[in-house]
Amino acid sequence: KTSLFIVPTPIGNLADITLRALDILKSSDLILAEDTRTSGFLLKHYSISKPLQSFHNFNEHKVVNHYIERMEKGEVMALVSDAGTPGISDPGFLIIRACLQAGLKVECLPGPTAFVPALVKSGLPCDRFVFEGFLPVKKGRQTLLTALAQEERTMIFYESPYRLVKTLEQFKTYFGAERKASVSRELTKMFEETFTGTLEEVLTHFQAKEVKGEIVMVVAGRED
Ligand code: SAM
Repeated sequence: KTSLFIVPTPIGNLADITLRALDILKSSDLILAEDTRTSGFLLKHYSISKPLQSFHNFNEHKVVNHYIERMEKGEVMALVSDAGTPGISDPGFLIIRACLQAGLKVECLPGPTAFVPALVKSGLPCDRFVFEGFLPVKKGRQTLLTALAQEERTMIFYESPYRLVKTLEQFKTYFGAERKASVSRELTKMFEETFTGTLEEVLTHFQAKEVKGEIVMVVAGRED
């Protein structure tokens, strides 16, 4: 019997949830949510009423054992994050590892995650790729960018709109102005936009306006 279900939720468009995800949310004893307000809104939209408890980066270390004990007693839990797949730049890893160590069964439903549509629509090679998540803001950033300059696979990054231009400037410095890239903003939402070109072109495009919304950056790997 499965103790913990990892349930991906929409990254914008509320219709992007699977029938199975809704079934699991309805049948779990407890839903662990990164933000109970955000998930409460989704559950209400689908008329699901279940106990919700918060499980986020700031309390996961403290509460994980409590939930493991309850699952050991037979409770079935579902883990959701604010958007997309838990564990992907979101809480998940810690409780999944703890379940496996305790011999509890974990299932992860397939579903939305922002980097897959960004990668696939970028037109850059998607047979092999590396997901880098958020770059470190300060410590380790330059070392990582230096190492990534040698990477031959397509690279994927999550980025905040406030840092996009600065990061594109650094990519241009480290990877070269002619390197191909694609930036996707607000995927599945009303103002979805994808701009693809050389790093120089992408930088010029986003320098020209105020950047808003959620962003995935995709950068071609090195070719020689
Ligand atoms: N768990 C999520 C997933 O599976 O993609 C990622 C969570 S992470 C905290 C949030 C970041 O994901 C955002 O800053 C942005 O980089 C990316 N993201 C999430 N939703 C997005 C969307 N609709 N369009 C573009 N990027 C998105």
